[in-house]
Amino acid sequence: VPARLAPDATTTAVCGYCSTGCGLKIHLKNGEAVNLTPNTEYPVNLGMACPKGWEALNVLNAPDRGTTPLLKNAKSGRLEPVDWDIALASFTDRFKAIQEKHGPASVAFLSTGQLPTEEMTYLGSLAKFGMGMLHGDGNTRQCMATAVVAYKQAFGFDAPPYTYQDFEESDTIVLVGSNLCIAHPIMWERVMRNPHSPEIIVLDPRMTETAMQSTMHFPINPKSDQTLLYTIANILVQNNWIDWEFVNEHTNGIHEFIEFIEPFTLERAETETGIPQRDIKQLALKIHEGKRVSFWWTMGVNQSYQGVRTAQAIINLALMTGNIGRPGTGANSITGQCNAMGSRLYSNTTSLLGGHDFTVPEHREKVAGILGIDSQLIPDQNSKAYNEIMEGILRGEIKGLWVICTNTAHSWINQSQTKDILSRLDFLVVQDMYHSTETAQMADLFLPAAGWGEKEGTFINSERRYGLLKKVKTAPGNALSDFNIFRLISKYWGCDQLFEKWQSPEDVFQTMKQLSIGQPCDITGIKDYKMLDRLNGVQWPAATDAAELGSQRRLFEDGRFYHEDGRARFLFEEPKPLSEPTSSAYPFILNTGRGTASQWHTQTRTSKSEVLKKLYPESIYAELNPQDARELGVVSNDWIVVKSQRGRLRAKAFVTQAVRPRQIFIPMHYKETNVLTDAVFDPYSKQPSYKTCAVKVHLEGKL
Ligand code: SF4
Repeated sequence: VPARLAPDATTTAVCGYCSTGCGLKIHLKNGEAVNLTPNTEYPVNLGMACPKGWEALNVLNAPDRGTTPLLKNAKSGRLEPVDWDIALASFTDRFKAIQEKHGPASVAFLSTGQLPTEEMTYLGSLAKFGMGMLHGDGNTRQCMATAVVAYKQAFGFDAPPYTYQDFEESDTIVLVGSNLCIAHPIMWERVMRNPHSPEIIVLDPRMTETAMQSTMHFPINPKSDQTLLYTIANILVQNNWIDWEFVNEHTNGIHEFIEFIEPFTLERAETETGIPQRDIKQLALKIHEGKRVSFWWTMGVNQSYQGVRTAQAIINLALMTGNIGRPGTGANSITGQCNAMGSRLYSNTTSLLGGHDFTVPEHREKVAGILGIDSQLIPDQNSKAYNEIMEGILRGEIKGLWVICTNTAHSWINQSQTKDILSRLDFLVVQDMYHSTETAQMADLFLPAAGWGEKEGTFINSERRYGLLKKVKTAPGNALSDFNIFRLISKYWGCDQLFEKWQSPEDVFQTMKQLSIGQPCDITGIKDYKMLDRLNGVQWPAATDAAELGSQRRLFEDGRFYHEDGRARFLFEEPKPLSEPTSSAYPFILNTGRGTASQWHTQTRTSKSEVLKKLYPESIYAELNPQDARELGVVSNDWIVVKSQRGRLRAKAFVTQAVRPRQIFIPMHYKETNVLTDAVFDPYSKQPSYKTCAVKVHLEGKL
């Protein structure tokens, strides 16, 4: 290393991409980060990092970073630089004018799982208690809402029960709709460290990278997972392979469930899932024989029109076999973004700060008391979900939208409709690190924000671990941390007196501790940021001195769940047919998802790294089965056209056995992908169903 770059100090921080929450060592020169290495002492990643983590610093210096606020010139229609004073006055004047004319609920916000928990807490409080908004949601609706509802209904609280150590202690690992190998590569490394030669069972329509390395892959027909899971449950019942002691002592509803699954016969399952009966029996036997069976799921389950009940079909299997609350077990949802878990607890969207309920007067009083505000300022109803906010804009009820750190115009389902919806707004504010996102380009006002590494706070990872984020770099130009932007907005809005005690993120953290008292997510045992740093993160709950708690802890070891009677619930429902069945006009089923470990979501950050770009094709591609390719006269690298009832795109063909005939797969990272997807949602979680819609495919220039 040249002397001018040689670090003179090292500090630590957690990574800011995915929910794994790896620990990094950041090497500093004169207080500014010059490079990083994975933290060998951090109990999450044990010295490992994926390409995104290694490149985390290199995406901060991109030329399209926002360095000054931008305001749309009414005459030219172009975004032009302004100072913060003009930007914030404009923010306040325009949103207040809309609220005065159309009511307080006519302005809403859309946020993210990328902000630190303290910023989420500030944002949710500012928007709802300070600015009088009723509606705000986050992009976590796109990835985790299903798991939230599934857990709340089954366990009584949104509580993923596991610790990453469970990957190493299972003898049977069942992955449902999870391509762990590339979506959560460090978790996959934990699987690889498992010394018990575990059975690795993958339920996925695609031969994913994870399926290729599994011991058993079940290439089920798209969205037949619920049927397969109920059939497995029925086989377990028929053979009396039930942990009756656990079920009788700790659950409700098994008898109703047994009656419900009776019609889920092997014959029916073979027809609906495409999996031979002997293989289904073998799967049930493996689950029965496993001594420590863990079930894991991600977007293949969550992003579905029947996601909640499918997630609960997984939970049911864990409950009926007693595979919960013991090492190597669990019904385990893996979260997406670095702070999706923080968003689930503190974003003030699906629940009132700290897992409280907007509709319960005592909860509103408690939260108001801790914040020192009038409880009348707290709305007594839940927010509209993301899709309902979009519908509200379409109906003309919502006229102003504040988008923070998410790229709606790229990532929301049915993109053509999304862009039309956003264009109907009277005033769109986008607060982001980069002014180049598809959504920022549509903004009337752009607020430049600092990103990971340029501010401090906490993230909560998938195993419920609070990890510390530190400022190791100066944000470019006049970009400000979201925390400081929120503080300035509260001042310009005239509600800063409500948040006087929050002068720093750590002040908010201290309030979060108070809010957590008596909740399953109690963190009063974490004294301060220093303690969090010294202990390499702390999992909730931590109601007692966190220094006394182990570094890896799971929930429900005493068999007590969070419902009032302490018992978990079996929940179930008849599976629904595909939301958009194939037809002779649209004979293929489209599946979308993550395509690589080196890209992240809409590529807002990862496209700025030369290294990450080299690891992934820049141009959009579609995976196509060889049989279909032959019929269509297509070979790899040909341009093909993919059409749905909503839009069309062109993509390079990638002919591969990874997808089954009459199915295609297109990664979500490309800006075109969501022109095809259909705006269909799970009825309970309101999560979009990105995984299945009907499309047609042909060679470009040949119909
Ligand atoms: Fe960061 Fe996730 Fe990669 Fe770990 S696995 S380095 S948290 S992106």
